[in-house]
Amino acid sequence: NQDEEKLTEYLDELEFLAFTAGATVQKRFTQKLTQPDSKTFIGSGKAIEIKEYVKENEIGTVIFDDELSPSQLKNLEREMEVKILDRTNLILDIFAQRAQTSYARTQVELAQYQYLLPRLTRMWTHLERQKGGIGMRGPGETEIETDRRIIRDRITLLKEKLKTIDKQMATQRNNRGKVVRAALVGYTNVGKSTLMNSISKSEVFAENKLFATLDTTVRKVVIGNLPFLLTDTVGFIRKLPTQLVESFKSTLDEVREADLLIHVVDISHESFEDHIESVNHILMEINAHQKPMIMVFNKIDDFSYEKKDEDDLTPSTRKNISLEEWKKTWMAKSKYPTVFISALTKENFPEMKKMIYDEVMKIHISRFPYND
Ligand code: GDP
Repeated sequence: NQDEEKLTEYLDELEFLAFTAGATVQKRFTQKLTQPDSKTFIGSGKAIEIKEYVKENEIGTVIFDDELSPSQLKNLEREMEVKILDRTNLILDIFAQRAQTSYARTQVELAQYQYLLPRLTRMWTHLERQKGGIGMRGPGETEIETDRRIIRDRITLLKEKLKTIDKQMATQRNNRGKVVRAALVGYTNVGKSTLMNSISKSEVFAENKLFATLDTTVRKVVIGNLPFLLTDTVGFIRKLPTQLVESFKSTLDEVREADLLIHVVDISHESFEDHIESVNHILMEINAHQKPMIMVFNKIDDFSYEKKDEDDLTPSTRKNISLEEWKKTWMAKSKYPTVFISALTKENFPEMKKMIYDEVMKIHISRFPYND
């Protein structure tokens, strides 16, 4: 059943996100509804089922693979008596853990406050419950209002701070002159940083976790005497929280202002087709979908899908495919130049470099038509 396969893949991804955030997943629950319950997202029977499981197994957190409305979050927490996270919250948490520069931290902080603002009452209910006890009244409405105002002020401040940095970055981009700019784009964890390292011989942080890269890294690369700038960007993901798209504007500007996009795909991932779609969708959203693009299908050294549990007996049909066979697949018939590589073993690197060289050269020539 196709729907069920999709569902498994989505939950695999959520589990990977949870793992990245530092949690271990004990059990998955799913429910088919024609539409989410407006009050509690899931049906009441399911909520009781989860609540009982949580109690019996002393589970600390329940994570939902969607963004819950503020009231759904509140109702669910009240009903199930456990900490609830939604997908957005989880992603924000990972971003917060991984933000390394003050710029990334500012972006994440802004996104977090924007997420928090409409959910403020919930936070206070929480505190109230923790305090408990007679005479320990929770903060009243006035305090919530004060707090909202503090957060709104903070949001304004962060926005101004980001605007200043955005301007600086725009100036920096302008100062890079007419050198051709290529940007690596792709779903998170496809191997962009690894590729960046092997092309530019630099040391960019690469790790088998989601969103290892939050800040953009720009490196000067020379292929066959032709210099150009290569940018590594934040990985894209299905249902990227809108707060993040907004606050990572400048990071995405690198993509928007690039001359050439190098779209990296992890071909060993069972949902790579979905990933391509998600990336194209985000490119469309930021109006960068009409740029010249190269499709780089990465990880050809590793097609077999790592099984998460013993019951997963899906045959790894993609194993041992030769380069010639790859070139006969539908992926090779895209309207963009396409290449199959391994960023790890550097298999087929010469072909990829030649392809990048050709595309960069085309742009270079259109820019400097008179000097060779
Ligand atoms: P990014 O999030 O797109 O920047 O991905 P990374 O470069 O951090 O890589 C994610 C994971 O995939 C790391 O564990 C890499 O070692 C691994 N990886 C990257 N390229 C390849 C490849 O060609 N083959 C294999 N087997 N693993 C790779």
